Amino acid sequence: MNSRPKTAIVTGAARGIGLATTDLFREMGWQVAMVDRDGSELEKVAGDRDNVLAVCRDVSNPQDVGAMVREATGWAPSIDALVNNAGVAEFGPVEDCSFDIWRRVMETNLDGVFLCSQACTPALRQAKGAIVNIASISGLRASTLRVAYGTSKAAVIQLTKQYAAELGEYGIRVNCVAPGPVKTKLSVAVHSPEIIKAYHDSIPLNRYGSERELAEVICFLCSEKASYVTGQVLAVDGGFESTGVGLP
Ligand code: NAD
Repeated sequence: MNSRPKTAIVTGAARGIGLATTDLFREMGWQVAMVDRDGSELEKVAGDRDNVLAVCRDVSNPQDVGAMVREATGWAPSIDALVNNAGVAEFGPVEDCSFDIWRRVMETNLDGVFLCSQACTPALRQAKGAIVNIASISGLRASTLRVAYGTSKAAVIQLTKQYAAELGEYGIRVNCVAPGPVKTKLSVAVHSPEIIKAYHDSIPLNRYGSERELAEVICFLCSEKASYVTGQVLAVDGGFESTGVGLP
């Protein structure tokens, strides 16, 4: 049996879904390179944990991403998984979506996934590792106020399939998780009372998900248990996507 500890790179790891994913990997015996651009928050949470490396980098910046990979590969014997979780949300009507807003959302949500995946591919090839991209149910269906966010997440879903198609021959699996609403700093900032009510009314399980429930699926897809799963998009949303009910 191979007892070498496995290593994951988790972006956006300083809080929310990324932090819960970091903690579940650690419970599974993995070590984690925690990447976030919020240095003070990252140092605080990484300082409280063993088997982690704090990597203060911006996933939308190519130089930062190069440095991120050098730091992670200098620390860990292998890179077995990359979780592209870092994301930002800005909601508003189409007519109010300035080019600055559009670019801010695309830079992190789409460019970041592309840059990190490409930069990690050589290390993932060596380990026959896995990539899990975090999209959103907003990338699977259209609803108002999400022109930049929803489009960025739909593109992440397509990027997942492109990468899965090309990297399968190296033994790299690439999958996507599309979360429904989870009460984190990101969602609290953009979910109005109307949106919260609409979610509660339309989700078959009648509640928001937890960070841990997302982490369970992300870590499963990174693990050997999912060894024949690639190119898939899994909605983790309490059944919302399957109902086809709209949002305001
Ligand atoms: P969050 O705001 O709690 O955490 C996101 C983390 O990403 C933060 O620590 C932030 O500093 C970091 N980050 C943002 N931009 C970055 C960049 N350019 N470089 C490095 N780090 C960066 O958010 P969350 O709710 O945990 O979201 C995690 C992912 O899940 C995101 O991709 C988000 O779009 C997706 N998602 C969340 C929900 C939800 O309801 N919370 C629903 C669907 C999808």
